[in-house]
Amino acid sequence: MPEKENKNSNNSAVDIAPANYKVCEVIETEIKTKNNLTIKEATGKGKKEDVKIDIIINYCKGCEICVAFCPEGVLIMNKEVAEVVDISKCTKCNICEYLCPDFSISVE
Ligand code: SF4
Ligand code: SF4
Repeated sequence: MPEKENKNSNNSAVDIAPANYKVCEVIETEIKTKNNLTIKEATGKGKKEDVKIDIIINYCKGCEICVAFCPEGVLIMNKEVAEVVDISKCTKCNICEYLCPDFSISVE
């Protein structure tokens, strides 16, 4: 069974966060493997409804297009790979998915 990483469990980050720092409370990230691909799956409540964002690690070339064009600041770069930082802002506009040149990111 794949190991689950709940970002909420990082209490040390919460402890040192300034008073006005908004800690995302809804994101869960799971690493899955399918057809020899490694997929980072983030799930949670978006701005309007539940959302799932998959990023295929093997395909992501770190071009940062999805990060630059996401109108809500949902994504960041983690080293050379895109990552979901706050799924609660996602409106499921699918811009990231349409613009990714490598079909690495999908939003449902
Ligand atoms: S647009 Fe696609 S390839 Fe570029 S950083 Fe985002 S997920 Fe990776
Ligand atoms: S679907 Fe839209 S809001 Fe959600 S991560 Fe992609 S670009 Fe950002």
